[in-house]
Amino acid sequence: MITFYPGPSKVYPQVADYAAEAIREGVVSLNHRSAGFMAIVKETVRLLHDKLAIPADYHIAFVSSATECWEIVAQSLTGQASLHPYGGAFGKKWAEYAYRIKPPVELNQADVLCLVQNETSNGTQVTMETLAQFRRDFSGKDGSALIAVDAVSSMAGIAFDWTLADVWFASVQKCFGLPAGLAVLIYSPAALSKAQAIGENDHYNSLLFIHENFAKFQTPYTPNGLGIYLLMRVMQQVQPIAEVDAITRKRAASWYTFFEQEMASSPFRLLVKNPAERSDTVIAIEGSEADVKTIKQAAQQAGITLGNGYGDWKTTTFRIANFPAITDSEIETLKRFLLSFQQHYS
Ligand SMILES: *Cc1c(COP(=O)(O)O)cnc(C)c1O
Repeated sequence: MITFYPGPSKVYPQVADYAAEAIREGVVSLNHRSAGFMAIVKETVRLLHDKLAIPADYHIAFVSSATECWEIVAQSLTGQASLHPYGGAFGKKWAEYAYRIKPPVELNQADVLCLVQNETSNGTQVTMETLAQFRRDFSGKDGSALIAVDAVSSMAGIAFDWTLADVWFASVQKCFGLPAGLAVLIYSPAALSKAQAIGENDHYNSLLFIHENFAKFQTPYTPNGLGIYLLMRVMQQVQPIAEVDAITRKRAASWYTFFEQEMASSPFRLLVKNPAERSDTVIAIEGSEADVKTIKQAAQQAGITLGNGYGDWKTTTFRIANFPAITDSEIETLKRFLLSFQQHYS
């Protein structure tokens, strides 16, 4: 069975050995305040800075999920309220979670701009050019205005200009090619200053408390040690992000051309019409409910899992993850399947 599900998604096959190794060597039984465990946290943070080209002065912490990061931004980094321009289901959910903690106020009072860089639900993305525009328009108005970016389905798949936002986060079950239960939270010196100015320290996952712990390569609570170890091993294995980015973009361009040209006589179309908005890591394909159902079933019978639609697009789309752990030969297999499926319609 091969999977193109955009999360949880295919894990790197090496992860099976890394997990066995972690258990055999007692890594999962290490006390999380021990020197051995702290060395793993330190090395994982170092590798993330190195492989993902994260600026040296940006801090990195590990939490449990991207959903937790939504709440951390609301509770620890939002003074008045956050602003959520969104175009899909994850952006909407983030706004709902945030407003329960910090109810919306007048637009011009918002002090955090929350953006989903890659909207997994419908295969759209915010380009670095657009993010730069947001940076000029929003952060310019006041030094304490932050930009927070949900990059769950693109971090470790494409390169970012990290300086264009103050907070970036991703859970690892998408482009990192790892099992769920861990998220990477990255924050700038400006974000830390703002957390200090707000001074919120009421929760186990208050950013100030997390920061204080991570300064010692520790965590406030017993962490997902296996997840952190697997992240370290995968970061050792992957190429620098510039190389991964080039491959991801090339594969994405090839998927879009494939659907526009080779699949032109199929009943499916690209969901996102504007090429500038198309995601590099999640390809969304639209069709009738019946056709979508048929192709997903046929794929399953051929040993291929396609991603279901999500939210408003649940029954009228399917999605194809374009994540680094997926191999060229798996992509070829899916393309061959899609071409043979199309023949039923010609
Ligand atoms: C998957 C996903 C999430 C949720 O991640 P969890 O680890 O389940 O909290 C949030 N945002 C986006 C864009 C996602 O794709």
